Amino acid sequence: MKPAAFEYLSPTSIEEAVQALTDPDDGDTKVLAGGQSLVPLLSLRLAQPARIVDINRIPGLGEITESGGVLTIGTLVRQRSAEHSDVVRRACPLMAEALPHIGHTAIRNRGTVGGSIAHADPAAELPTVAACLDAELVARGPRGERVIPAAEFFTGFFTTALAEDEILTAVRIRSAAPGTGAAYEEVSRRHGDFAMAGVAAVVRLDGDVVAEARIAISGVDLVPVRAGKAEAALVGRVVDEPTLVAAAEAGVADLHPSADLHGSAPYRKHLAGVLIRKAVRTAAQRARESR
Ligand SMILES: Cc1cc2nc3c(=O)[nH]c(=O)nc-3n(C[C@H](O)[C@H](O)[C@H](O)COP(=O)(O)OP(=O)(O)OC[C@H]3O[C@@H](n4cnc5c(N)ncnc54)[C@H](O)[C@@H]3O)c2cc1C
Repeated sequence: MKPAAFEYLSPTSIEEAVQALTDPDDGDTKVLAGGQSLVPLLSLRLAQPARIVDINRIPGLGEITESGGVLTIGTLVRQRSAEHSDVVRRACPLMAEALPHIGHTAIRNRGTVGGSIAHADPAAELPTVAACLDAELVARGPRGERVIPAAEFFTGFFTTALAEDEILTAVRIRSAAPGTGAAYEEVSRRHGDFAMAGVAAVVRLDGDVVAEARIAISGVDLVPVRAGKAEAALVGRVVDEPTLVAAAEAGVADLHPSADLHGSAPYRKHLAGVLIRKAVRTAAQRARESR
């Protein structure tokens, strides 16, 4: 099937792009980034916007920088570029480990970091990383720039706090602190498929004791879930097997995943617990090795 007809705009400045989103029209307008989610939706006519605003010709949205302990990834940075970036690997090893799980190389060559986060698939890796690390999402709209904390960004199934006339311009993440270890674990039926569940974990150790833990889970709710109870069960403790079991139990206690073709609800819940144990164990090991 071919996409329904739409007006195509290719602005060369962010102001022009915002203006195109703001202009009144008789149908909805969609931003086009890497097209790896939007183009299939158009082709299947699951999305039929009246107008497409292609942001790929806007300069300055495709840079990776680190300054003052903050990693900034421009929205148009291709997932494959982030995957191969030394800066990302050093400042955000969690994202570096999560990226290769996204689809296949051809998809990551075009798909953008910002596009994945704006798309807000609850099974996707990058929204889970953003939730885990309390990333800041920088948006630009007709009222100027605003910064949205990840905890407020993912508002529902494929839904974000971005207004219809706003463009995500960058993702900001605090650089990994010394003594910190990170791990991303997921299970999918086949390589390249969306995961049935995934867990992002970061552990900071003080001696052998957990000073800080961050855990986020994908594929178990309408948005990536921050496992606050699992984090609390780890802080102040040595990461041994009884602590991992207690943290995993606490982390899944309030989950009510839905079933689909790939797995039942109890299976997904079980999987999330297994992945919490695995990811936290690895993150703690890496934190020890980083000393
Ligand atoms: C076969 C296949 C397998 C895949 N497997 C995975 C997987 O395992 N894990 C995974 O995470 N993803 C997977 N993807 C999706 C892929 O990661 C997409 O690249 C990503 O979801 C969207 O990024 P994009 O740059 O392609 O965005 P687009 O497809 O261009 O846009 C996606 C949506 O986000 C909006 N958007 C994009 N950029 C912005 C912006 N800057 N501001 C505001 N709105 C914006 C668009 O309007 C659109 O609604 C897969 C895709 C395919 C085709």
